[in-house]
Amino acid sequence: MWRELEKYIEMLYRMQKPIKIWFRDDDLGFYIPEVKKMVNLFDKVEVPIVYSAIPSLLVNETIDIVRSSKTAFVAQHGWNHRNNSLKAGVKTEFDDDACELSIMINNINQGKKKLQDLFGPKYLNVFVPPWHEMSPKLEQEIYKCRFHYISSWGPNGRNDNNFYEINTQVDIIDWSISDKFAGENYALSQLVSELQEGLTKENSRLCIGILSHHRTMGTEGFEFVERLINTIKILPGVEIIIPKGEVDGKSIIYDS
Ligand SMILES: [Zn+2]
Repeated sequence: MWRELEKYIEMLYRMQKPIKIWFRDDDLGFYIPEVKKMVNLFDKVEVPIVYSAIPSLLVNETIDIVRSSKTAFVAQHGWNHRNNSLKAGVKTEFDDDACELSIMINNINQGKKKLQDLFGPKYLNVFVPPWHEMSPKLEQEIYKCRFHYISSWGPNGRNDNNFYEINTQVDIIDWSISDKFAGENYALSQLVSELQEGLTKENSRLCIGILSHHRTMGTEGFEFVERLINTIKILPGVEIIIPKGEVDGKSIIYDS
């Protein structure tokens, strides 16, 4: 599978289709040793990463580690990541039937202010809905909280509410089986399929988000992420970025 990955990256390079890849690690909050492990990994390989932080769960130890990292950036992951869903089979912090819209918005604004104050230029002004779910009413209102964009799961582009999404498309954990790293083949096959899609699209602007969860991915997950970065970062045509900036009508201005 590693050879497949290199093959498709090389094909896209020959077709002059640049590949932008970014890493998002979710559920930054309480301190556990894996927080330091993740930050150390990305500092060691000198590649940027976006941590989705849960504002009300952040503790000083976590904050200090992220602040002192050269490679860490922060997005907002809800307010407290509690499941308030009233619908069976759906998890969400933001359910219209369970919470007042004004309270949800207040919580989000409070979280945003906290992250801005704590992380300054490391804060990216990006909203990451927990479990990739959010009430449609809230999503319409989230413009007013002045986020640059949403990051969730699936294709990039404008959603039904005309809000720009820069999403993740590769998840190294298969949640349907367990919350652990699902293995090299599981993760790489998703990445390869995104690259294959890029081959067929005209003028495609490939931006692939890779999602991890430091809390549950385990030693094998950490080893995989390190190997993946070391493999792709030296290949021509690949740029590992932090997606940030303004919406220009069609696309985001990417900053590395
Ligand atoms: Zn989460």
